Amino acid sequence: MSSKIWMSSPHMGGAEEGFVKEAFDTNWIAPLGPNVNGFEKDLETFLGSGAHVAALSSGTAAIHLGLVLLGVEAGDEVICQSFTFSATANPIRYIGAIPIFVDSEPGTWNMSPTLLEDAIKDRMAKGKKPKAIMPVHLYGMPARMQEIMEVADRYAIPVLEDAAEALGSSIDGRMCGTFGAISALSFNGNKIITTSGGGALAAADAQLVQKARFLATQARDEAPHYQHSHIGYNYRMSNLCAGVGRGQMQVLQDRIARRRAIYDRYKEVFAGKKGVTMAPEPAGYYSNRWLSTILIDPAQAGATREDLRLAFDKDNIESRPLWKPMHLQPIFEQYPYYGSGVSDMLFANGLCLPSGSNLTEDDLQRVFAVINSVLH
Ligand SMILES: *Cc1c(COP(=O)(O)O)cnc(C)c1O
Repeated sequence: MSSKIWMSSPHMGGAEEGFVKEAFDTNWIAPLGPNVNGFEKDLETFLGSGAHVAALSSGTAAIHLGLVLLGVEAGDEVICQSFTFSATANPIRYIGAIPIFVDSEPGTWNMSPTLLEDAIKDRMAKGKKPKAIMPVHLYGMPARMQEIMEVADRYAIPVLEDAAEALGSSIDGRMCGTFGAISALSFNGNKIITTSGGGALAAADAQLVQKARFLATQARDEAPHYQHSHIGYNYRMSNLCAGVGRGQMQVLQDRIARRRAIYDRYKEVFAGKKGVTMAPEPAGYYSNRWLSTILIDPAQAGATREDLRLAFDKDNIESRPLWKPMHLQPIFEQYPYYGSGVSDMLFANGLCLPSGSNLTEDDLQRVFAVINSVLH
């Protein structure tokens, strides 16, 4: 059996072990310490636009805390992009709030600003104004943030940006993760950089980020004893994980460049094939190309995305259908949905390809050989 080719696996840069060793040498083995502070500073510098950052235990924790900080409570409605990973929507239910799912638009595959406004109007007509809006930058492609912010501002609803897949992506030079009132980042093992597991909450409002740190460390009031006037969480990032993150920040730009180069290689391969399209970048949009993704039109291609996926699988190459939308998930299908069929089509015909920055030329040649055997 040929060796396994993964879709996206961790890719260390070299400096990570030094930061982790320093944590051991100084006995900073805790969910706080110099690496946590240093990693937060690195992220703040990278994001720019006055962003403040709290390093947390996961991207999911960042989304949950973000909703809490926006004042979302049980019974409130929260608008959420349907085409996403369940980790975007689950925290809405942790709180007992109600997800209202909105479809994508074809240009970015992310939240449609038009359907977003339709949903807001309809929810308000039914008697409830949504408490927050959650767009997602899937596969690194920025959502239509200018248009989404315009709609959100018109109705004075705060935006919680799920930027878990989009560290380093931007629109007209402004980084994803700096558009909404609050944003969430992820450093899980498969993301563009990793801390093995981890996440971060970012916001321009320094007090909000300070409050996130407070809530993430069990909400301890200032007192010699343990005193609490808020419900707290144990969501802070470990100083060991943050050491890995500091090393990864040194190579983030290289990782983005490599992922974009892999996307371009696929583009060349698919240019000569019938019925295959790759997501383009709208003008001014810059994707970190976390994953290279394709759509296969079976009528034109003479093959389905399942044909390609199974052929990859036979050669020990990992690939996966695009996200199954939340409005089609057994656990979420009971909630309201505003759509026009875009995410259904993406799920039916789309495939994520091996995209890791550590793929070798030999790996790519193996992947291309399978593609050439299935598509013509
Ligand atoms: C990875 C991911 C998350 C969750 O991040 P974790 O760090 O794994 O908790 C949330 N949303 C999206 C879109 C993701 O890809």
